[in-house]
Amino acid sequence: MPTATDAVMSLLKSHDPAIADLIAKESERQDTTLELIASENHVSPAVMHAMGTCLTNKYAEGYPPNLPWGGRYYGGCVFHDQIETIARERAKQMFACSFANVQPHSGAQANQAVMHALMEPGDTFASLVLKDGGHLSHGMKLNFSGKFFKPVHYPLHYRKDHPEFERIDYDAVKAVCREHKPKLLMCGYSAYPRTIDFKKFREAADECGAILMADVSHIAGLIVGGAHPSPFPHAHVATTTTHKTLRGPRGGLILSNDEELAKKIDKAVFPGSQGGPLMHVIAAKAVAFAECLKPEFKSYAAQVVKNAAALAAELTKLRYRITSGGTDNHLMLVDLRGRSDALTGSDAERWLEHAAMVCNKNGIPEDPRPPKLTSGIRLGTPAITTRGLREPHMATIASWIDRVLSAGLAGEAELAKVSATVRDEIRALCREFPLTH
Ligand SMILES: *Cc1c(COP(=O)(O)O)cnc(C)c1O
Repeated sequence: MPTATDAVMSLLKSHDPAIADLIAKESERQDTTLELIASENHVSPAVMHAMGTCLTNKYAEGYPPNLPWGGRYYGGCVFHDQIETIARERAKQMFACSFANVQPHSGAQANQAVMHALMEPGDTFASLVLKDGGHLSHGMKLNFSGKFFKPVHYPLHYRKDHPEFERIDYDAVKAVCREHKPKLLMCGYSAYPRTIDFKKFREAADECGAILMADVSHIAGLIVGGAHPSPFPHAHVATTTTHKTLRGPRGGLILSNDEELAKKIDKAVFPGSQGGPLMHVIAAKAVAFAECLKPEFKSYAAQVVKNAAALAAELTKLRYRITSGGTDNHLMLVDLRGRSDALTGSDAERWLEHAAMVCNKNGIPEDPRPPKLTSGIRLGTPAITTRGLREPHMATIASWIDRVLSAGLAGEAELAKVSATVRDEIRALCREFPLTH
């Protein structure tokens, strides 16, 4: 039976063959490769097709009129009001909190809005040392966060003999807060494999009178699925993307429990930093949120974590060093120097892609190599778990990774030979666990 995607593709093919051809190729690429990028996932057909609807035609600047500060700036929003209200309600239910803004176009936009709502230009905020796992919107020089505000950073434990090696140094978080009195304290990361202790962060925030913001972009799906503690009641505000472990459309979401704060945040999203909301994406967010609220999503989140633990353990057996000694969540950082000093993250990323495994090079804590090279790769299990893979497959994936990287170290000819074989084996596994379109 032809799927909705087939119908869309056949329409596009006659309308715009150039774009249709490239979409078909990308679809084939996703079908036949293992997606190990920790921030990616495969959405359901329902989520995907909610985005491709007439909702994209509409301007709905403002908020649904049922909010005390609501009201739209355009007519014709009656169904959009209902869609956005449903999305907000489901978001609140997912995080058991009182306020949600579903309009941010992305995670970075959600962060921008919160900073805009809670700080004045020039104000100080605290976040993790960026190269140790932070996000560019947490104070990178070239980003709005580093340009208009003053970031100060807290470190990880860097001493190898410390029991908390490569984990957050909570005493240092408090010390940084005492010294700099930040207005905002940020936790939540892009490449941190361990559980975040939100309670300890709140203590640090309370000591210096800071607002605690948890950017749970990476772990939101684990939180909703019960596989990571919730930022609430500790965080004053939480931001997230909707397209990572949450498995929705690309976008952002802001959550809080305080009406004054929620009002400020809504105003900072619109008109503070965005114009018209992407109503087709908000509808898809609502569809994805309903999926997250089903019992199956709990099993999914649990399996993501089990798969990551299994993959980390298998790689360790093969002499790769996993930073901090393992993972509690959906991702891990592999320090490739454990395997060979000559191995860089950038080579590994390229070689693995050639063999149908997609991941990204990533700096490891105190990485001596520059960001374009790095000594590590970041691997995540959200997408392969969506595909249906389980613990036994993780041993196979670890051995594929090792075979390809060993071949790459041996030279071009060996790499070409081994990656061709591995690619075939991966195609066979992908056929056994097809993506649903
Ligand atoms: C991915 C991510 C973001 C930003 O997401 P975009 O949608 O790409 O803007 C923000 N914060 C963290 C911690 C992230 O990992």
